[in-house]
Amino acid sequence: MSIEKTEAVVLRAVNFRDTSKIVTFYTRRYGKMSAMAKGARNPKSKFGSLLQPLNYLQIVFYRRENRDLQFVSSSEYVRYFKSLTTDMLRLSIAMAHLEIINRVMHDEEENQSVFNLLVDSLTNLDTPDTFPKNVFVYFGLHLADELGFKPDFETCLACGNRIDLEKESKVYYVMQRGGAICEACFNRMVQVSSVTPVSASAISTLRSFTELSPKDAAAKAVAEPIQNELSNFVFVYLRKHSETLQEIKSLKFMVAALSPPVREAAAKDDSEGI
Ligand SMILES: [Zn+2]
Repeated sequence: MSIEKTEAVVLRAVNFRDTSKIVTFYTRRYGKMSAMAKGARNPKSKFGSLLQPLNYLQIVFYRRENRDLQFVSSSEYVRYFKSLTTDMLRLSIAMAHLEIINRVMHDEEENQSVFNLLVDSLTNLDTPDTFPKNVFVYFGLHLADELGFKPDFETCLACGNRIDLEKESKVYYVMQRGGAICEACFNRMVQVSSVTPVSASAISTLRSFTELSPKDAAAKAVAEPIQNELSNFVFVYLRKHSETLQEIKSLKFMVAALSPPVREAAAKDDSEGI
């Protein structure tokens, strides 16, 4: 057994027996990890009161390899996300980040990029004058990349040409294949599998989000209808590619607020064509 220290974001915490908690963390050094916090609900326990979802902490724990449950012994704030608790939309999106990480990441699998992506997202959600839906879209795109299903916004799946957003008013996205069909190709097709129409403005923003830093993407002025279209896109895309994301409970608040509702499968024909 060794004593370890790592940065961690609390994903969830459940009460255990009279005074303890079982906490799921996403950690910088050990990926997702569950730990017992003995006496954490004792009112005198300073470290226990910090073990709440969304908190970004430095924790010390006793680690034994191949054990399902580690033992956490102390915690302190790395950063306190003050604004997150006062804005329902920001809170709901932040909670969706935690839910997604909890569902797609595996125990004890270190991924510094995903950890940084999560912390950057929470920091940007906590920053005034950012666009919370942009943060979700950026997170979803880059997480998909980390998990091996990066979406492509550049090339038409059918003709292989670069999609020219000066000429196209929209493209037809094939979620399953992570790529788009240009309008000309789509109009020529007799049979296509299900596609999602995506506006040229949305595609242009998605392209920019693959290049921008998290901070710049969060602050990028994007018209509200495009923000909604992008959030829908990412939500549907993640669900299509991950069995574990069929339902993201914490996103319900945001999705209910979206207009128009999630558009999916505006297919000419349901058969598997292209
Ligand atoms: Zn084409």
